[in-house]
Amino acid sequence: MPNIPQEKPIKKLRSIQRSAGSHWVGNGFPVRTLFSYPNWGNELSPFLLLDYAAPTQFPPTDKRLGVGEHPHRGFETVTIVYAGELEHRDSAGGGGSIGAGDVQWMTAASGLVHEEFHGRHFAQTGGTFEVVQLWVNLPAKDKMTAPHYQSLLSQQIPTVTLAHNQGSVRVIAGAFTGEAGPAKTFTPIQVWDMRLHSEQPITLDIADGYTTALVVLKGTVHVNGSEIIGAAEVAIFERAGQGILLDSAQNASALLLSGLPIAEPIVGSGPFVMNTQAEIQQAIADYQSGKMGHLA
Ligand code: MN
Repeated sequence: MPNIPQEKPIKKLRSIQRSAGSHWVGNGFPVRTLFSYPNWGNELSPFLLLDYAAPTQFPPTDKRLGVGEHPHRGFETVTIVYAGELEHRDSAGGGGSIGAGDVQWMTAASGLVHEEFHGRHFAQTGGTFEVVQLWVNLPAKDKMTAPHYQSLLSQQIPTVTLAHNQGSVRVIAGAFTGEAGPAKTFTPIQVWDMRLHSEQPITLDIADGYTTALVVLKGTVHVNGSEIIGAAEVAIFERAGQGILLDSAQNASALLLSGLPIAEPIVGSGPFVMNTQAEIQQAIADYQSGKMGHLA
């Protein structure tokens, strides 16, 4: 019998999230929330939220711009710096300064407090600031494990060049064509930081059953023949299928998020994301009684 080639079934486009207004986080981060768990928690699990601070010019200042001491419990914050400099410090001993291309992966887990500011040097000179913060959920069994901090510097993050000059993929978490990213994750997750430019279709292999979202930060990506995903928009794909097909891309900077869904209830309030309302009440009590620590 001849071997009949079969096309791999691709994940169908499910919906496009086009974001609305922006708000400030502290006095340093003018962000748009491109998705968040009250609306998309089940569809986008294990991803909870993505805030995008699009490129903004800041004049030189001696002020500390950002957000002061505040808690988190039950998930991880992943901060990707595209331009500028970010300083972070937490009550579990994590912290540091990161610049363009660097990523901080903070596992809040059982709880900590931290502060997030523009880097001192950047604040003094001023310039363009651009950053993404992604919240990644933890499975119930890991929510009360010890906090942890991973500083993922640009030189640790492998870059894969796509065939036919279609662009490049920085592998922050998971793997892409055999190149593994440096992030240690609790559940299988891919975070690919991509630059795409191609008039030809781009195929990305992604595991069957995985949540898959394409977050376009800049430029445009065409999918499904006629759909255009523009800046600060998110394409959400069906879980069934073995990859996605992008028809073309024009000067696009985009994050591909995919991962094994965590099939557990999501109950959140402000900086806490747990599984039940009782756990939220406990988180508030633990924070208020100082159990998440304080910054020196
Ligand atoms: Mn925070």
